[in-house]
Amino acid sequence: DRIISPQAATDDGMLDRAIRPRTLADYVGQPAVRDQMEIFIGAARARAEALDHVLIFGPPGLGKTTLAHIIAQEMQVNLRQTSGPVLEKPGDLAALLTNLEEGDVLFVDEIHRLSPVVEEVLYPAMEDYQIDIMIGEGPAARSIKLDLPPFTLIGATTRAGLLTSPLRDRFGIVQRLEYYSATDLTTIVERSARLLGIAADTAGAAEIARRSRGTPRIANRLLRRVRDYAEVRADGHIDAAVADRALEMLKVDAQGFDHMDRRLLEAVIEKFDGGPVGVESLAAAIGEERGTIEDVLEPYLIQQGFLMRTPRGRMATQAAYDHFGLRRRTPVEP
Ligand code: ADP
Repeated sequence: DRIISPQAATDDGMLDRAIRPRTLADYVGQPAVRDQMEIFIGAARARAEALDHVLIFGPPGLGKTTLAHIIAQEMQVNLRQTSGPVLEKPGDLAALLTNLEEGDVLFVDEIHRLSPVVEEVLYPAMEDYQIDIMIGEGPAARSIKLDLPPFTLIGATTRAGLLTSPLRDRFGIVQRLEYYSATDLTTIVERSARLLGIAADTAGAAEIARRSRGTPRIANRLLRRVRDYAEVRADGHIDAAVADRALEMLKVDAQGFDHMDRRLLEAVIEKFDGGPVGVESLAAAIGEERGTIEDVLEPYLIQQGFLMRTPRGRMATQAAYDHFGLRRRTPVEP
């Protein structure tokens, strides 16, 4: 229900197919990732080998799934998709692995949520393209080794710190996605508008981009809502003024913050005197899950310099007081 949630919403789906970039050339921004992947893909293809395993990490909505699909597309192989919590038993993963064709990509979203027994199946699969399968039960049980075709595992996770080190060490390529600049997001909004037949000028696209929290998924969603506004309250054309009015109506402020950001910062400032406050206490104070704070709410606040993560907990910065018009209750100690 949050318009600026970076996580996929059910109604993002259909529109998404039309605008999701399919080639590296269409993948806007992330220049370091693009340059490197172009070389690694080119080299693997020239040697006619499977690409090394790739770990992609970054906050939700920045293009991890998109990049995985692009890699498979550029390698001209199939992609099979699953996710950590879906793979409940070792057999679930074994079934997927044994159905891969040579060079295929297996994309595991939320790979940090694999159960330990399933994760163990991955180690020999990644390292030697082999899996051990148990046949039978009790004293008659025996394990047999199965050879797999060379394949590429692509894992995606919101935070690399959540991965066990044996798993992390088995990825030859590690890519970290960064929040997008307003310029790159403007390009993304203009591209989506073009593909969807929406009339938006550069200033209108830029206004949407600036308020999209550095996140393409949010930019595309805001574009859609601003289009609705433009069609009903204006002549259908999105310029800066129309975008501004629409976003104000959607309660997305000039920095791209909304009531949830405000609630979090207000709690830090008013209930904990500006911090430091531990994430568990903060979660209890605002009635959100710890994971939501860590994955969704605070990364952008931290990146924008409104919140600091210190060894003793989270602290509000002066920018937070200024932006939200809040005041310190007690003078800061020197
Ligand atoms: P994640 O898997 O990181 O949550 P997705 O790959 O699903 O994010 O990306 C969300 C949406 O944002 C995509 O459907 C796509 O339309 C758009 N998007 C992501 N990255 C880019 C990019 N680099 N250029 C253009 N659009 C992008």
